[in-house]
Amino acid sequence: MEKILEVHNLHVTFTTYGGTVQAVRGVDFHLNKGETLAIVGESGCGKSVTVNAVMGLIPNPPGKITGGRILFKNKDLTRLREKKMRAIRGVDISMIFQDPMTALNPTLTIGTQLKEGVKQHHRISDKEAEKRALEMLQLVGIPNPEERLKQYPHQFSGGMRQRIVIAIALICEPELLIADEPTTALDVTIQAQILELFEKIQEVTGISIILITHDLGVVAKIADRVAVMYAGKIIETGTKREVFYNPKHPYTKGLLHSVPRLDAKEKLQPIEGTPPDLFSPPRGCPFTARCPFAMEVCDKVYPKTARLSDSHVVDCWLQDVRAKKLLAATAKNK
Ligand code: SF4
Ligand code: MG
Repeated sequence: MEKILEVHNLHVTFTTYGGTVQAVRGVDFHLNKGETLAIVGESGCGKSVTVNAVMGLIPNPPGKITGGRILFKNKDLTRLREKKMRAIRGVDISMIFQDPMTALNPTLTIGTQLKEGVKQHHRISDKEAEKRALEMLQLVGIPNPEERLKQYPHQFSGGMRQRIVIAIALICEPELLIADEPTTALDVTIQAQILELFEKIQEVTGISIILITHDLGVVAKIADRVAVMYAGKIIETGTKREVFYNPKHPYTKGLLHSVPRLDAKEKLQPIEGTPPDLFSPPRGCPFTARCPFAMEVCDKVYPKTARLSDSHVVDCWLQDVRAKKLLAATAKNK
């Protein structure tokens, strides 16, 4: 499978008055062409920071990419100057955010905003831009697009506004779409419609999607693969089936608590305790303090990534043969 994006050992920090926050601490993942990868985890785990790094949107200062590579079609984005990055943003890679209202300019018509989106990057006539705008509104399912083009954001419902935001994100035909909690601000029926829209767009355009969410229902509906983040690290990655039916990391199991169902429409349940302070993250496994299986080694040394299949990887000492032997010996001595 062709990889469109590869992130290797990404580190991102933020300098604050209280010290340096290590928000992303050595993240590895990739995205295959035409697939949807969901990055899940509790708020503050580093998922938004990770995709903002891909977009070149880490404000420096206070933020900084302190290590790693982000390869988009084999080009390292961390080495590009802002001018080059600006040419990629919106054209090759687009991003949509949680709140459609803040993404739209309330003083401009939808048509103007769509046309500006494409004219910023391409030399085309107003007429051609308008034609593109109409096509986009049709693609995202806005009825009466000719009339709707002349209207302002407040004349649309929340769900329709999110459709318009998606249309703007797609107007330059990007190859990668990053969606950060795109349905969180919407009510449940609208959420389902927007998720269906993502599926339709992927079918029509073949676009690759990274979806950030804390909602397992969303993951179950549209993800091909899932990466679970905790305390600035990806601790388990696999196909949707592997992660839902055969989770191996105790944190993933905690998120899914009890027997997972692909059709489950549940939010992540809080696990007892809190994630570690990322001002001074632990050397070892960051889940140690909350993990019912924690061993002595866990909080001293970070576990090596164990490969359980071509697609399923997990960072947990329980998957290490040495720990397995140790546990067996302890059990015998008891
Ligand atoms: Fe629990 Fe240890 Fe695995 Fe971390 S490495 S999840 S503390 S068993
Ligand atoms: Mg976020």
